[in-house]
Amino acid sequence: MYQCAFCPKNLAFFCCFTYNKNVPIPSAGISAAELRGETVHKYCFGVDVGASFIKYGLFTTDGEAAEKWVRPTEPGERILADITAEIDACMRRRGIDAAEVSGLGLGVPGPVDREGALSRAVNLGWGAMPLAERMTVLTGLETRAANDSSLAALGEHLFGGGTDYRDMALVTLGTGVGAGVICGGKLLLGAHGAAGEIGHMHISDDITEPCACGSRGCLDQLASVPGVLRIAREQLAAGSAPSLLRERELTAESLWLAVREGDHVAVRTAEIFGDALGRALAALSLAVDPQLIVIGGGMAAAGAALLNYIQKYYIRYAFADCAKAAFRLARLGGYAGIYGAAALFMDRGRQCL
Ligand SMILES: [Zn+2]
Repeated sequence: MYQCAFCPKNLAFFCCFTYNKNVPIPSAGISAAELRGETVHKYCFGVDVGASFIKYGLFTTDGEAAEKWVRPTEPGERILADITAEIDACMRRRGIDAAEVSGLGLGVPGPVDREGALSRAVNLGWGAMPLAERMTVLTGLETRAANDSSLAALGEHLFGGGTDYRDMALVTLGTGVGAGVICGGKLLLGAHGAAGEIGHMHISDDITEPCACGSRGCLDQLASVPGVLRIAREQLAAGSAPSLLRERELTAESLWLAVREGDHVAVRTAEIFGDALGRALAALSLAVDPQLIVIGGGMAAAGAALLNYIQKYYIRYAFADCAKAAFRLARLGGYAGIYGAAALFMDRGRQCL
């Protein structure tokens, strides 16, 4: 089971839908710069746009989380207006002036280049757009945008389980599969912002249905939540053997519970999932050679059972030196992305760019 980042519950990532710490911390005392009449940036926002939920965080510029909250995603381009309204409401509620905010970091599930232009985000129904520029106009705050998994990797590297590692990869398993890479202490973005888009790595020649990207046989189709449930349905349809999965609503949670209970169909599904993800991570490790691979995203709530199947196949396929990489679950849970997004406007995050 996964421990919630903000309460002692061992249930799921989002058991705390709101979190409100008693800040503003930086308001205690007036700095020398303020006495000189200079503008002092005290806050920054981190926003992580997912296909199901949008997560928000207000942080101090020295990295303290002041407030976190989650809203369901209403698909389409109105997402941008919704984010603007949430940020405005938070600033009004707390009496924060725009001059006190260093900026807004935004993570989205698609490739974003260094200028903040998105090429597409298929899970949100978005095509190409100058995302950072558009949000800067809408909110009046300087906005930087990047791929959500890259920002989750930055969040775990700076605030979570990867603080002692200069070379690490974070894999997110949710509606899609993504990865972010920290290489020599720097966030790897690539020429098009697509570094770590392993969800669209070709893994299987046997899948005839198209992936959301238009290709066939992508890792997304085998290791995302919809992908692993598709495998389970295929395994159930291929025979009539008794299975706990025939008696329960099929979800990622019920699937991994059945794996832990030794259900034959569920275990076979986990083997196919582990094989696909193990291959992909072995290929990724040849390019970036991480010391640590962190598993995050909604499906990481399955905990050790999930980790065991990934690691088993990673070790089978990885080059001997790369096979030494350690594995662990994301410590910030589903909130790693907002930490990484906000860090784009903190000194410690800028040092990683
Ligand atoms: Zn694909």
